[in-house]
Amino acid sequence: MNISKVAKTTIRPSEALISQLPYEGMVVIDNAGKVVLLKKGERSRVVLNAEEVYDLSRRKPQSIMTHNHPSGGPLSPEDIYFAFKTKLREVRAVSPDNTVYLMEMPKKLNPNDYYKGIKESLRFAKILEKAKTKGLMKLEKDYTTFYRFMTMKLKHIIPGLKFRTLI
Ligand SMILES: [Zn+2]
Repeated sequence: MNISKVAKTTIRPSEALISQLPYEGMVVIDNAGKVVLLKKGERSRVVLNAEEVYDLSRRKPQSIMTHNHPSGGPLSPEDIYFAFKTKLREVRAVSPDNTVYLMEMPKKLNPNDYYKGIKESLRFAKILEKAKTKGLMKLEKDYTTFYRFMTMKLKHIIPGLKFRTLI
C-alpha cells in the first residue's frame, strides 16, 4: 500500500485524536494499513513489553508507529532507537498543535544499518541525559539544536534516512 494513502486514511485521523491527550498514546499500523497495536503511556513515555517489541520486529517489520508528545517537540533519541529496534518503516510524533515530526527509513536497510541506528540513538540518549543533568536542556531551542545535530549525524551514517516536519 502506498505510504501517503495509509497516512491519509489511518495515520492522520489517529494523530488528530491522540494529539489532544494529556498522556502519550501510541498507534502502530502495519504495512497493509491495519492497526496492530494501541498503547496508552504515561506523561512522557510509552513502555512496550519485550513480547510487543519482539512481535513488531519479527512479525510486523515495516510498520509505521505514531505517538503524541503532550508537551510538543520533535522525536527523541528513544523514539529513533525504537524505530531501529522494531524495524519500522516510519516513526512519527505529533504535538498538541498537530505538527508531526517524522523519520522515514530508506527502502533498503541491511542488518548493519539497523545495528548502527540502534548504537547511535543510544549514544545520543546518553548525551542528552548528561546535558539534562548539567542543566543544559532547559529551553526549547536547546533541544532543537540537539535534534538538528542528532539527525544530521544519523543521516550521515545511514544514507537515505529522512527527517521531516509536517505543519
Ligand atoms: Zn516520543
